[in-house]
Amino acid sequence: MAVPMTPDQWLKALRAEGVTDIVEMPGWRSNNRNHKGAWGSVHAAMIHHTGGEGAALPGIVFNGRDDLPGPLCHDYLTRTGRLYLVGNGRANHAGTVAKNAYDAVLNERSAHPAPDAAEPIDGNAVSYGLECENTGAVGRDWPAVQYYTAVRVQAARCRFHGWTADSVWAHKEATRRKPVDPRIDMAKFRRDVAERLKHPASWSPPTTPTTPTKPAPTLASLDARVTALEKKVK
Ligand SMILES: [Zn+2]
Repeated sequence: MAVPMTPDQWLKALRAEGVTDIVEMPGWRSNNRNHKGAWGSVHAAMIHHTGGEGAALPGIVFNGRDDLPGPLCHDYLTRTGRLYLVGNGRANHAGTVAKNAYDAVLNERSAHPAPDAAEPIDGNAVSYGLECENTGAVGRDWPAVQYYTAVRVQAARCRFHGWTADSVWAHKEATRRKPVDPRIDMAKFRRDVAERLKHPASWSPPTTPTTPTKPAPTLASLDARVTALEKKVK
């Protein structure tokens, strides 16, 4: 049982964990669906792939799509390892989830069973959601900088709440509706999160690159992008 982190707590935890290439999207601190349903207690940190790639994605996950209002996650991670802070509060990322999958993260079991068909749990109320830029196509790689930043992001949440790596789950582990979301080995991913949690947050092994390669976009350019997308969505 955990009270969701505040925006300031989240930023501090990310920076402590060595996530340096961060973009705070304008309005992210109050971007949520709390008027539509519960948010918290939180018990899990979910990882997703976007199923598409490109510069429009930050705006889409912030605002949503025609069929699904945003935010569509809490954080969005590009293939270059840049983390966009998208929402704070209830977000449309998990939908309903299977009870056996949820029980596994809630109780931090080492076994994460294939999800039941029935989905009685409101996943958006109980789980953070990290979206990662990847088409989801067979063979589409996850660049090391993206993968290991995802490890840091999920480790930061676990560390803050005192969770083990078995509080991390994939969308594909939570529902049969998303059988390949994301197309990564979750046993390995949880092992990598668990390894980080054995060390201080500042731990930075040479094999896990995080260095930003490009300057962050200005808030003005982000505003313009979000506005353009809003028009598209409406
Ligand atoms: Zn997903």
